[in-house]
Amino acid sequence: MSASRKVAESMDKKGKHMKCNIKGCPGVYDEKKITHTVKSRGSVVVIDHVPALICDVCGDSLLRLETVRHIEGIVKAKAEPSQTVPLYEYA
Ligand SMILES: [Zn+2]
Repeated sequence: MSASRKVAESMDKKGKHMKCNIKGCPGVYDEKKITHTVKSRGSVVVIDHVPALICDVCGDSLLRLETVRHIEGIVKAKAEPSQTVPLYEYA
C-alpha cells in the first residue's frame, strides 16, 4: 500500500497545537476526523473518521504513525467494508 499523507513520526503524545511543518505557515495542527484514501493491491480503500492532524491555516494533514499502522491493519485484514461507495476517475 502507499499512503499519500505525511506521517507524524516524532510527535508529542497529544499532538495538540504542534506548529505547522509548512515553511512560513503560522498555523498549528488540530485533531480532526478525515476520510483517508489508500491504495491496496490496486484497489482503492476509503476509510472514514480517521483521526488526523490538520493545520488550521493551510490545511496540511498529518497522520500519526500509530494511525498509519492501524490503517495497514484494517487493509491487511481485508474486513468487509461497512459501506461501499462508487469511485469516479477524473480523466
Ligand atoms: Zn499550515
